[in-house]
Amino acid sequence: TDILLEVKNLKKHFVQNKGFLKGKKSVVKAVDGVDFFIYKGETLGIVGESGCGKSTTGKMIMQLLEPTEGEVFFEGANIVEMPPNDIRHLRKEFQMIFQDPYASLNPGMKVREILREPFIIHGYNKKDIDTKVTELLKVVGLNIYHADRYPHEFSGGQRQRIGIARALALNPKLIVADEPVSALDVSIQSQILNLMKDLQKSFNLTYLFIAHDLSVVEHISDRIAVMYLGNIVELADKQSLYKEPLHPYTQALLSAIPVPNPKVKKERIILKGDIPSPADPPKGCVFHTRCPLVMESCKTIKPQLKEVESNHFVACHLYNK
Ligand code: SF4
Ligand code: MG
Repeated sequence: TDILLEVKNLKKHFVQNKGFLKGKKSVVKAVDGVDFFIYKGETLGIVGESGCGKSTTGKMIMQLLEPTEGEVFFEGANIVEMPPNDIRHLRKEFQMIFQDPYASLNPGMKVREILREPFIIHGYNKKDIDTKVTELLKVVGLNIYHADRYPHEFSGGQRQRIGIARALALNPKLIVADEPVSALDVSIQSQILNLMKDLQKSFNLTYLFIAHDLSVVEHISDRIAVMYLGNIVELADKQSLYKEPLHPYTQALLSAIPVPNPKVKKERIILKGDIPSPADPPKGCVFHTRCPLVMESCKTIKPQLKEVESNHFVACHLYNK
C-alpha cells in the first residue's frame, strides 16, 4: 500500500514570556518529535487529552502552523521546504473539518455562497459551480432547498454536513478532521461518522482523525496513535491496540471506556495527578509522574517509539528487551 503522508521528527515549540519576570522565557513543547505515516485511503486516528499536541500536529500538516523542526512528506515531497508557489498548488489536496463547524462557516453567508466560494477562488465557471453545489449538498445528505439558508438555521449535525461538503468541494486527497463529532449528541455522532466512512470510499479519501477519547475513533480508524504531552506513546492497528494495549497510558484510557458486555469485568485504572505542563515536561519518560508501573530508569531515560510487535509501536521501557 502506498503512503500518502509521512511526518518525521515533527516539533512545535512555542516560546512564552514568563509573566512579569522580565526576560524570562519558557518553551512550551506542544509537539516534541513525532513520527508517523498514513497510507492512502486509510484513517489514522490520533487520540489524547487536551494539550497533548494532537491539534497542533494536525495544523502543522495543514500548513496552518510552521513546524519548529521536522519534515512533512506529502506523496514523497517535503512540504516544509516547498516554495510558496508549489504549496499553493498543493493546498487544495488538504482540507480540514473542525470541531465547531459554526465557527468555521461564515455566519453572514448562505450555504450556497459558502459552497460556491472554493470554486470561485479556483476559477470555475458559473454553470459548473451550480452543478457542483447541488452535487455536494446531495452527497452529504442535504438538498438544494438548504442552499438559501444561513448556517444558524441548521442543527449542529447539519452544520457539520455543510462543513464536510465544503471540505470535499475541490476533491482533496487528505482530510484532517479535528474532533469533528465532539460537540454533537451521541446519536448524531454516529450519523456523521457513518457519512465520513461512506464518503471516504466514494471519494478515495485519506483521513487523519483527531479525537480526545478512544471510543470515538474505534469505529472509523484503521490505525491509532496515542499522544501524551507532545509525544506519540503508542501506535498500532485498531485491533491490536484495543485487544492488547501495551503502553500503561493506553491501558488506562481503554479502562475508562464502558464495555458493551457488562459480564466482561474490566478494572478501571485511575491515574494519579494531573497532566504536567508542556512548559515543564517531566524528564525521562513524559508519563513517569503518573505511570502505575514507573521504574527508576523511567525518570531519567526517555523511551523511544519502537516496533515491538509487527506494526505495533510503543515508547516504554517495559518493552526494552
Ligand atoms: Fe511507565 Fe516507565 Fe513505561 Fe514510562 S517508560 S510508561 S514510566 S513504565
Ligand atoms: Mg484540540
